[in-house]
Amino acid sequence: MDKDLKDKTYSELLEIVASHQQKPLCGQYLFIFIHQKDATEINAITPLSKAFRQQLADEGFGILSLAPLDQHDDPDGTVKFVFGLCDGAKIEAVRLKDGDRNTLCVSTQAGCRMGCKFCATGQLKFRRDLTAAEIVDQVYHAESICGRISNLVYMGMGEPLDNFDNVMRSIEILNDKRGRTIGIRRITISTCGLPEEITKLAAHEIRPRLAVSLHAPNDAIRSKLMRVGRKHPLEEIIGALKGYQKLTNKRITIEYCMIDGINDQIEHAKALVRLLKPLRVNANLIELNPFPSCRYNASSTHQIKEFAQILTRSGIETNIRFKRGRSIKAACGQLGATWLK
Ligand code: SAH
Ligand code: SF4
Repeated sequence: MDKDLKDKTYSELLEIVASHQQKPLCGQYLFIFIHQKDATEINAITPLSKAFRQQLADEGFGILSLAPLDQHDDPDGTVKFVFGLCDGAKIEAVRLKDGDRNTLCVSTQAGCRMGCKFCATGQLKFRRDLTAAEIVDQVYHAESICGRISNLVYMGMGEPLDNFDNVMRSIEILNDKRGRTIGIRRITISTCGLPEEITKLAAHEIRPRLAVSLHAPNDAIRSKLMRVGRKHPLEEIIGALKGYQKLTNKRITIEYCMIDGINDQIEHAKALVRLLKPLRVNANLIELNPFPSCRYNASSTHQIKEFAQILTRSGIETNIRFKRGRSIKAACGQLGATWLK
């Protein structure tokens, strides 16, 4: 990471060139060639002098590329990419096509430490955080196959706020107008609800959109489904979200996975409405996607619609998320499912 030029922000590249007695323009060339022109080796950055390129290489600098291991195409337009990391770990990213939108769902960790019981990634062994370069390169590879990515969701493998610094660094790089220029309003971070990091995000100069995976209207149900629910009660999360909204004035998306007989009853919907009262939110109801060894079942379409109606009537804009890419195990919560024993 330390020597990976793809992992550096624009200002860090300027510092590197300055420390090598090169002009700032060289930093600009580095950034543009790596993040706009997809240079994968220093030698390809030809506006830099040969001597400087050689010097960087001699000092061990390089430009990371993920190893694309596999690609699966679903007839509904969903594409799943499987990548190998340099230490043998594997991650996945998913491209979703939705009208004009070309959305990429990126991973932030190899595995996840949160261990939610309804999520395939949560059943994998946690390997490590991804670097910013490993996150941005998912985008660059997907673009080389599927064309320009217009929207980015941090909803792949891992908990983005558990890898806060690298995630924010990746957003800074992808948002940079000298690189890919993905608009900040088109970038969403999804979190299982880490209050401290939500507060940190609210104060951060870069502010992507925020989605929170709630999945339950009370702590009893939530802590059964999500280990993190035992550590952070809902009150703490709602408190952090109130603070976030006060500072950012941004609407928050609530994600709610519909699990048969567990969190999908009318009383749960009503309790959820009460819980969300102090916030300005919209809701996404996600039908549970199956994976081997998952002990839960998806709610019926009827149940989901009834649940949605209660939220809508109370003034919460609610969408039901279609299952996308299930045939290739690329739907929400299915990433890594093929590696489960
Ligand atoms: N760790 C972050 C982002 C990755 S998970 C988070 O939890 O928000 C992305 C979304 O998929 C989350 O809303 C998560 O709750 C949801 N999800 C996980 N497992 C699922 C499953 N089996 N079916 C449907 N959605 C699932
Ligand atoms: Fe991790 Fe999100 Fe899956 Fe929970 S739902 S295990 S936080 S990836």
